Amino acid sequence: MATLTFWGAAGTVTGSKYLIEIHQNRVLVDCGLFQGPRELRERNWAEAPFPAASVDAVLLTHAHIDHTGYLPRFVNQGFRGPVYCSRGTAELLRILLPDSARLQEEEADYRNRHNITRHDPALPLYTEEDAIAALGLLQVVPNDGQLIKIIKGISAEFRIAGHILGSSQVLAHIEADHQRVLFSGDLGKYDQPIIRDPVAPPACDYLVVESTYGDRIHDPEGPKVALERIIKNAALHDSEILIPAFAVGRAQEVLYLIRELEDEKRVPILPVILDSPMASAATRVYANRREEHDEQYVTASAGNANPMHTHSMIASTTREDSKRLNKERGARVIISASGMMTGGRVLHHALRVLPDENATIVFVGYQAAGTLGRRVADGEREVKVLGQWVPVRCNTERIGGFSAHADWQEVIRWLQELPAPPRRVFVTHGEVGSATAMAQHIRERFDWPVEVPEHGQQFELS
Ligand SMILES: [Zn+2]
Repeated sequence: MATLTFWGAAGTVTGSKYLIEIHQNRVLVDCGLFQGPRELRERNWAEAPFPAASVDAVLLTHAHIDHTGYLPRFVNQGFRGPVYCSRGTAELLRILLPDSARLQEEEADYRNRHNITRHDPALPLYTEEDAIAALGLLQVVPNDGQLIKIIKGISAEFRIAGHILGSSQVLAHIEADHQRVLFSGDLGKYDQPIIRDPVAPPACDYLVVESTYGDRIHDPEGPKVALERIIKNAALHDSEILIPAFAVGRAQEVLYLIRELEDEKRVPILPVILDSPMASAATRVYANRREEHDEQYVTASAGNANPMHTHSMIASTTREDSKRLNKERGARVIISASGMMTGGRVLHHALRVLPDENATIVFVGYQAAGTLGRRVADGEREVKVLGQWVPVRCNTERIGGFSAHADWQEVIRWLQELPAPPRRVFVTHGEVGSATAMAQHIRERFDWPVEVPEHGQQFELS
């Protein structure tokens, strides 16, 4: 009899790992890193509850590190099987996994230099070499519902999930038992720019659905209107805008909306500088994966225009270019990573922008507790940036309408399209409160049997 065990993203939003076992065969759906509080991060270091070498294959729903960032560690621990994912996911992983490894190595190095380690010497969770070995296992599959043979007795189908480029809903077929298990992965918002909406879910016996926003409904004021107001204001006062943005997904959406506003003549054309090599690389991947683009994107790209290029845009790549920006003045928009101001080039811009009472810093993504982004967004009057105390005198704006996740009403909308009721639903990938709320919404709307699994909980698929 087949079983499904939740080894991550149960009662939390990171560390996604769902293990399907039948006879001696094991397939892992997602191989995510735990992020956030220390007690979660320590799970990355604990011995895996199943030997890496005993897993036959991995299926990935999308490239985000909380779904893929454990893969280099898994390879380092002996996993050698194929890793199936869409082309978009594979291309983004070539940017994200080596970067994740460099961060692990830098952190270990920092701990050793500052003697803040309980282990002597502090080691990285994995190295760039491990990340490259993991990339070598990727097997690209179509994201259009074709049936793919995974291992003896298990096949799978991948379909667009509309969350980030390449994101997939994954339907696993356990052939001997005639069971189909659908994993929603992270589910996108409907009408998100650039990429297509989530496609309708295929029929399944069991369903694992995410619940990041299981207790929330998105701000009805679109982010485009907010960007319009902020850009007009900057042009009027000849002042600078700094947008810390995640390099994959958010940076591309911001560029796309600014370009639309310019096309519609709703804002004056200001210089827009994308100062993040990772965001520039991700933007190229987004532009190249035509099969994932939505209709508006296709229309906007007619005649070879790039819908993610504003009319006066510079994609800065060298450190020297980035430093030169520091000396220039006047109305302009700088988009830079990291999105929560925890590192990267955005910090050099922050040194200049934060004390400038004419400038505006715009938060377009979630700011986790304890990050510099959160401190500034919360209105602290003085913050430490790259070791210096800096007064915060600039204007701050938060645009809430950007999100790569469906809210609970959109998850219900997606579930409504299921051809038949599943036998059981498992709600994952949400803090306990959101997961419980999502489960309740599903019971109220459909009256299906719903579980909110705990970490390590196993279910029989009979
Ligand atoms: Zn995600």
